[in-house]
Amino acid sequence: MFEFLKMKKLADENVFQKHRCFSEFEKRWIKRKDCSNLEQSIIKKQKETNIKAYCAYCKKTTKMKIDFLYAAKQADGKLIPNFRERIVCPECNLNNRLRATYHLLENIEPNLKTKQAYITEAVTPLFELLKNKIKFLVGSEYFPENDAAKVFISHVNREINNEDLTKLSFENNQFDFVISLEVLEHVPSYRQALREIFRVLKKNGNFIFSIPFVLNSQKNIVRARMNNGVIEHLLPAEYHGDPVDNAGCLCFYHFGWEILDDLREVGFCDVGVYPYASVKFGYLGDGLILYAKKINDE
Ligand SMILES: [Zn+2]
Repeated sequence: MFEFLKMKKLADENVFQKHRCFSEFEKRWIKRKDCSNLEQSIIKKQKETNIKAYCAYCKKTTKMKIDFLYAAKQADGKLIPNFRERIVCPECNLNNRLRATYHLLENIEPNLKTKQAYITEAVTPLFELLKNKIKFLVGSEYFPENDAAKVFISHVNREINNEDLTKLSFENNQFDFVISLEVLEHVPSYRQALREIFRVLKKNGNFIFSIPFVLNSQKNIVRARMNNGVIEHLLPAEYHGDPVDNAGCLCFYHFGWEILDDLREVGFCDVGVYPYASVKFGYLGDGLILYAKKINDE
């Protein structure tokens, strides 16, 4: 009984609040004071810390380490932990942003065991962990130099689906969920990718995704673009880690609130940005997840 009450209390903390546009965010979003205080005290001490936090994937409290791996430097020379990519749960090995993504997924659909989902990754630990929670999960990676529908990847010792987000091989109305984490910024024609995601979702299907997002920018920031098949850099080239390509992957965009208009244009409803922060769940830093729903077919 006590355990149940404790769980309920945790679940009641309103971690995810949806913001539908920049002005709503500016008016309403106030980061929790306990989160900022904890972040500031860790930055002040410049020392690794352990916190006890509730893992939304494992459904229990675990001891999570806040370290300085991938830390950034402040103007005064002090290191700021990479809160977003760290605070790893020692049991499931999911970091802050992945635990939060799973958390929101389950808030939207508590009954994942009956659902069909497509995720734009297939060699990651998250893909393996989601298979335990979702009834039918398809994952893919993208191999632009290869036309084959499946590509053998030696480090996972199996064939991986090869999908181009701008021309997915799936039927219309196939999935209850599409999940895409840190991928759209690498797709030059991301609007075409949004149309494809809309197409393969069922009616009432959900699109959950993360991208580099600039909270104080209305416009999407174009870093690079394709010009007659040639990459043209408008800002210094930025490459992100790619689980199937050691060379990394060029980042074409940092998105702003304009992406919500792009989603609405494609036909999505209920579009929003969910910033999240919670000491209880070990969500420090400035994490956010984006969401859109397909209500109608057009
Ligand atoms: Zn965990």
